[in-house]
Amino acid sequence: MAPHAERPRSAHEPPPTAGLPLRAADLLPGGDAALDTALVRFLGVESVQLECSGTAALVVALTALRDLTPARREVVVPAYTCPLVALAVARCGLALRVCELLPEGFDMDPVALAALCGPMTLAVVPTHLGGRVGDAAPARACARAVGAWTIEDAAQALGARIGTEGRSVGSDSDIAFFSLAVGKGLTIFEGGALVARDPALRAALQAASARLVPSCPGWELRRSIELLGYAALYRPAGLRWAYGRPLRQALAREDWVAAAGDDFEADIPLHRVGRWRRAVGVRALERLPAFLEQTRRQAAARIARLRQLPGITVLDDSAAVPGARGTWPVLLVLLPDQARRDALVRRLWGAGCGVSLPFVQVLPDYVRYADVVPAVRPGALPHARATAGRLLAISNSPWLDDARFDHLCDALARGA
Ligand SMILES: *Cc1c(COP(=O)(O)O)cnc(C)c1O
Repeated sequence: MAPHAERPRSAHEPPPTAGLPLRAADLLPGGDAALDTALVRFLGVESVQLECSGTAALVVALTALRDLTPARREVVVPAYTCPLVALAVARCGLALRVCELLPEGFDMDPVALAALCGPMTLAVVPTHLGGRVGDAAPARACARAVGAWTIEDAAQALGARIGTEGRSVGSDSDIAFFSLAVGKGLTIFEGGALVARDPALRAALQAASARLVPSCPGWELRRSIELLGYAALYRPAGLRWAYGRPLRQALAREDWVAAAGDDFEADIPLHRVGRWRRAVGVRALERLPAFLEQTRRQAAARIARLRQLPGITVLDDSAAVPGARGTWPVLLVLLPDQARRDALVRRLWGAGCGVSLPFVQVLPDYVRYADVVPAVRPGALPHARATAGRLLAISNSPWLDDARFDHLCDALARGA
């Protein structure tokens, strides 16, 4: 551990994001296993296709689109996003194009995007990070202009709404996907949900899934055991072992990629989600609206406080999206510069006060993914790099109590 790093002051460790805790009753056998139907109601969409992860959902989507338009081979994604997106694109034999961002946010720069899109573009992937609603309209316009598809990555935004009627994010694009992984709100340990507006496209997604995804009881058994372990340890005392200990070990090695959980395996499991995990999801989903409301209220109060700190920029939903109401797994702030951000991270990441990095850096800067992410010239992607370097996530878990949040605000006030 770095010399100036603070040690956690109690055995009570908050998780890095506000995940919905499971209850013992969620884990009972039997019950309604129609998680797809339950998600249809929750999202207010016509149909939901369940997959074994958000990444698997993206693989299925890209496979279906590739079959519909085989001449197109390129997928444009934001330069700062989850490395699993890059792995999914590579797994489908497609070429990744990374797009510069607008300053101080996660949306792709429309000018850079237009320059990347062309007759080879299969899909553009606007993304809603950390529950923040991004503006997907410019990406849709760019994609449409070149005959490409739009896939909204709402992996971190299940429950985020747009418009006066409170439609789900993703409703306006060809396809959208959500993640049910640990740390993303509602979880069945790993899972993903695919939605599409057009019935013909939905049929193509189902056909791609039927062809690509085997049953694989071995994977399902493993995920079921992992879900039980999660249910047992996802509480302030258990997280110290399940999350805090491996985190502090990674920080002691100065391995930020492992500390952030960005060290993904290249191999993407594809299998069916079993009945028991689906039923757990149905029961937990009933509590999700109330949990999202509780975390929204906590976020509103804490953001008001963060906004008073000099030098701190709080990221919010896009002002360009009417009626945008995101979810609040984390509060995302930008520090004035990377040096100050890094100093705070060194001090607080392992200290049990809810600080983390969503992703460590822009996609081309991971040595680990050099074979699936095209290299860029030095100095490229200045806005995306600046955002990645100044960003800090603060857990919005209800288990991050006011004393810890106060400590964090003091550190931010001094550090920024
Ligand atoms: C987590 C994540 C994914 C992949 O979802 P999994 O369910 O973990 O496979 C894709 N995109 C983003 C932005 C994510 O955060």
